[in-house]
Amino acid sequence: MQTKIEGPCKESTVGTMTPSGYYRYNGKLRDKYVHVHVWEKLNGPLESGEVVRHLCNNTWCVEPTHLSKGTKQDDIHDQIRSGTFNRQKLSIEQVREIRRQYRTTAKTMQKLANEYGVNVSAISRIINRVRWKNDY
Ligand SMILES: [Zn+2]
Repeated sequence: MQTKIEGPCKESTVGTMTPSGYYRYNGKLRDKYVHVHVWEKLNGPLESGEVVRHLCNNTWCVEPTHLSKGTKQDDIHDQIRSGTFNRQKLSIEQVREIRRQYRTTAKTMQKLANEYGVNVSAISRIINRVRWKNDY
């Protein structure tokens, strides 16, 4: 696995930035981060559960040599380390309710995200108890 970065960061000038600091393309690629798109163009599609990490911790960077494939867990660790793992504005009660609804109803993460006005990755973290480990 690649661990060393060479050369300066190249920042994307297309797409829009999400609250977590990543760019996304609009249109056809709107569900994909730009750096993921860059990676997949060069290396082929990611498999389920895989993410593209920034070795340089610069979430805007699309320089291919700064990108490395990892798991979601790796990516969350990267985000915590680089300070981009922002707290959403949810109370502990809401977090518990989200978990309860996910367990006991047919609601999808996307539906819960819409209802609570946060992004799906925030819901995913809540349900997977990554962020709120100490709150239950
Ligand atoms: Zn970089």
